[in-house]
Amino acid sequence: MNSIEAINPATGERIDTIIETSVEEITPMYEKSRKAFQSWSALSIDERLAYLKKLKDLIVRDMDKYAKVIVEDNGKVPVEAIMADLYPTISAIDHILNHAKQELSTRKVKTPILLMGKKSFIEYMPRGVVLVISPWNYPFQLAMVPTVSAIVSGNTVIIKPSEVTPLVGKFMENLFLEAGFPDGVIQVAHGDGKIGSALVQAKPDYIFFTGSVRTGKIIQEAAAKHLIPTTLELGGKDPFIVFEDAHLERAARGAVWASFTNSGQVCMGAERIFVQRSVYDQFLQLVKKETEALVLGSDENADIGAMTFPTQVEIVKRHVEDALSHGAHLELGVPPKEWNPNSMFIQPIILTNVKPDMVIMKEETFGPVMPIVLFDTVEEVIALANSTEYGLNASVWTKDLKKARFVASRLVSGAVVINEAIVSIVNPYLPFGGVKESGIGSYHGERGLTLFCHEKAIVVDSGKKKSELQWYPYKGSYLQFLTLFQSYFSKRRNWGAFLKSYMKLMKK
Ligand code: NAD
Repeated sequence: MNSIEAINPATGERIDTIIETSVEEITPMYEKSRKAFQSWSALSIDERLAYLKKLKDLIVRDMDKYAKVIVEDNGKVPVEAIMADLYPTISAIDHILNHAKQELSTRKVKTPILLMGKKSFIEYMPRGVVLVISPWNYPFQLAMVPTVSAIVSGNTVIIKPSEVTPLVGKFMENLFLEAGFPDGVIQVAHGDGKIGSALVQAKPDYIFFTGSVRTGKIIQEAAAKHLIPTTLELGGKDPFIVFEDAHLERAARGAVWASFTNSGQVCMGAERIFVQRSVYDQFLQLVKKETEALVLGSDENADIGAMTFPTQVEIVKRHVEDALSHGAHLELGVPPKEWNPNSMFIQPIILTNVKPDMVIMKEETFGPVMPIVLFDTVEEVIALANSTEYGLNASVWTKDLKKARFVASRLVSGAVVINEAIVSIVNPYLPFGGVKESGIGSYHGERGLTLFCHEKAIVVDSGKKKSELQWYPYKGSYLQFLTLFQSYFSKRRNWGAFLKSYMKLMKK
């Protein structure tokens, strides 16, 4: 039996050992899930919502307990565990409790005149077993929100949490047990990419993946072999654009937060800061001052927590070293060669004189690093911001809201936030997803629940007529159809000719 060690990144202590799910257990898990689907999908939506209500109440009641587990397992500071992992989850469940009935109920839609006498509906049918594969940076939110969004319409779910934060995975499993969900409705498979891959091979009915572009491509390829539909929520290299007419102090504080929150391990975090020439020096001084005041640590007053695992520290190190060796200036922070190899804390870094071909401007860094680039014109900064393979999130800072909206609509990005950063993810009315290599599809928003359903088209005829105009025999109907379509679709609709040919066709 294999196990995964849960390590507290801030202290290096082993905090628990989690038993890995074996490959042999996967088939029985799917069987259980498919069996549970039969009864879970047969419940009324009110009955399913009652389970979600209980789940929400438990998370709210035990928020402090869950925050501590997230902090210990991930290294983030307590405020961020509450603000960015627990609150978005609770808010998403709350939104579902208030909107699911309406969003998932059968909708009547218009029926064109050529189908006269019939009625049309869209019905939402759950897909079956949904596989949710989640990352370590927001280990609770990014596993919980897709899961609760999938189960409400009647799907069952298998979650594969990240092996980097296994303790959160274990706590989620216990939480669903405590909430009393029927056996098999939500199961958790613990393990690394091997288990994730085996779960994909076992042919779920839908895959909801959040993680790196690299793994996203592997999953998409495997899913394509079996035509399994997917949503892929992947990485980002998000631009943060500061115009000279921005509220500069606000923009600087926003940039510091958007770059360093969660130790920079944020898919929607600011990874490239563009500042207009006339305010560049002032902005640089402001962000330096703001950053110098940040407190590293793990307690309730700390601002920046530990990095979550050594691999991520190595990526950040490689990016910063590459930038410095190619002429970037270290404005603030400690050069990587002086980092303590036994510590997972990285002092926030500010870099200037960065160039577009440096790794730090091209690949996702996912660490507390703020590279700042100077620009002159609106057109130039739009081109710079869009010159990336990613397209997850962006932010634009200016008091000229017309200009901000113009720039926002030109950015190739899943989201753009004006005079703010990151927050679009916590508005459940907005879609969340990326373009280009940042992903395929989106969730939250109006499609957040129906994406886990087949959209079924229903047409109802009363069944009283003997025949239909398009049925056999065709003899003598060609000219009637010609008149019918031409009279209806011509520039000036000819109702007389339309009705005459319609009646003739109906008399066949
Ligand atoms: P990752 O791709 O390494 O792992 C994500 C999950 O996939 C883990 O559970 C892992 O065990 C599993 N996995 C790995 N190989 C697999 C395989 N072959 N088949 C199936 N599953 C496999 O990503 P990560 O390092 O955990 O997360 C960081 C990345 O996630 C960053 O790129 C970040 O930008 C991205 N991210 C995106 C969003 C978003 O919503 N767009 C949110 C958070 C993080």
